[in-house]
Amino acid sequence: MPLEEDVELKEIIRKNALLNAARHDGKAQAGPVIGKILAEKPELKTKVKELSVLINKIVEEVNKLTQSEQRKIIEEKWPEALTREEKTEGEKRLPPLPNVEKCGKVVTRFSPNPDCVLHLGSARAIILCHEYARMYKGKFILRFEDTDPKLKKPVLEFYDRIREDLTWLGCKPDEEYIQSDRIPIYYEHAEKLLRESNAYICTCQPEVFRKKIIANQPCKCRNLPPEEHLTRWQHMLKGDYKEGEAVLRVKTDLQHPNPAVRDWPALRVIDSKKYPHPRVGSKYHVWPLYNFACGIDDHLMGITHIIRGKEHLTNMIRQEYMYKHFGWEYPEAIHYGRLKITGASLSKSKIVQGIREGLYKDWDDPRLATFAALRRRGITPEAIKKLIIDVGPKTSDVVLSWENLYAYNRKILDPAVDRYFFVQDPIELTVKRIPKTFKAKLNLHPEHPERGFREYVIKPPGEDDSVKFWITKRDAADAKAEELVRLMELFNIKIENVSSYSAEARFVSEAYEDAKKVKARLIHWILVGEDMPCQVVMPDATTIEGIAESACKGLKPNAIIQFERFGFVRIDKVNKKLTAYYAHK
Ligand SMILES: [Zn+2]
Repeated sequence: MPLEEDVELKEIIRKNALLNAARHDGKAQAGPVIGKILAEKPELKTKVKELSVLINKIVEEVNKLTQSEQRKIIEEKWPEALTREEKTEGEKRLPPLPNVEKCGKVVTRFSPNPDCVLHLGSARAIILCHEYARMYKGKFILRFEDTDPKLKKPVLEFYDRIREDLTWLGCKPDEEYIQSDRIPIYYEHAEKLLRESNAYICTCQPEVFRKKIIANQPCKCRNLPPEEHLTRWQHMLKGDYKEGEAVLRVKTDLQHPNPAVRDWPALRVIDSKKYPHPRVGSKYHVWPLYNFACGIDDHLMGITHIIRGKEHLTNMIRQEYMYKHFGWEYPEAIHYGRLKITGASLSKSKIVQGIREGLYKDWDDPRLATFAALRRRGITPEAIKKLIIDVGPKTSDVVLSWENLYAYNRKILDPAVDRYFFVQDPIELTVKRIPKTFKAKLNLHPEHPERGFREYVIKPPGEDDSVKFWITKRDAADAKAEELVRLMELFNIKIENVSSYSAEARFVSEAYEDAKKVKARLIHWILVGEDMPCQVVMPDATTIEGIAESACKGLKPNAIIQFERFGFVRIDKVNKKLTAYYAHK
């Protein structure tokens, strides 16, 4: 019976297409539906072509319906399936944000200093801020905080690299600001604070000021009239003070238990001839400090929810004084705990130093936890996103391992990527007494025959009926004498002898059942002549040389594949030699 006439089958396809559509904004995808049907009815594997045609047709019909029409059909026919689907979909949502009602539209921001590329340590801030903005149909802002041309000097190339990283992560900002473009705004606010006696220009020696503040006492500048401070401010702007000679301080509470909160510094002088800014050069020599610029911008940009690490708690307390001076309301602040990844160096200064000293070749060196390096290795942004959302914004510290991230990535890649053979540490295996010509048809994915296959013809040349293969030295060494071994998807052999450079075996039988009966090991192989050299760059930057099957010539750079019994890799270059970067097992 043609599948087209199988009413029961068509109904199952329709159900799966509708459920798939429900998960993808009303647009079902044929691939996953084919996968589901084959899992349910493996006997159809022999009719994949016909099945695909039928499924494509039904998916097309389903996609013509509106979402509410689709939903109605599911509710009527398979209400139970829908609740099950909803449950699995709902398990990974973030907890709600506080006080969303009163702010109208949720606005979040990610505010990096472009003095380094981004790494995994930033993932939590980026993904939570972006995800919450999406969840409430709000706005996600990227703000470059580049106001320290001396100690945290921004670098032009990193502005673009950060934008690229965000795009790759799927967290494209709705708006972008650069603080070095906004210096006049900060000056204006500084002046207002001075005029209203809520800030002052302190010209004390740092040590003198420190002693006073520790003793809860004002320095000699604090209580001078605002006119004096406005004059000092003009001198500051004109460049009459050198570095360290004048600081604008925001008045807080001299009795505050934390000395770091008392009258914190807001703007200071930087010798911009000596330390020019990469974007605005030597135009300004009064630069805002972190708490001042960030605090003002959060208000002016309408940030409703600040989501950041709990190391910023003191900054909130500092900024709240300034907000009070201006009569502003402080945004909701969520301070999550630290996220540590064991074995990953997340120190910016160490990364920068390593690059400068030549320890790392570039920002995507596989030893680094930069997004560039993760991308090069085939770690997907979806895996990073899922991991971060599962961890959520909780305040307790979280320690993760690379293996945690790999587990998320594996779950995404395993069903999605094609599989090929790669022989590490190859040894030549001669298989004798092959009785006939064999055709090995290797599916690109065992559960998805519809994705296609590659085919190798194993044709014994005549007299000695032998054929040469590459197998790994380890597989050859592990085979005990007279043990049955199966060359995957091909035939069963017995390895007769193994030397350091070659091995010999004889053909035994073709049937998979023979191998299954004795629990024979399945080993992968590459036909000599159907091979290409391949280098795999490992996470510790060492390389593994080996042989890939010739079908890999058709791969494109950036493709992520699985080398069977070896691991997931991202294809980096395809020339006469294949270069791949290792992701994980
Ligand atoms: Zn002073």
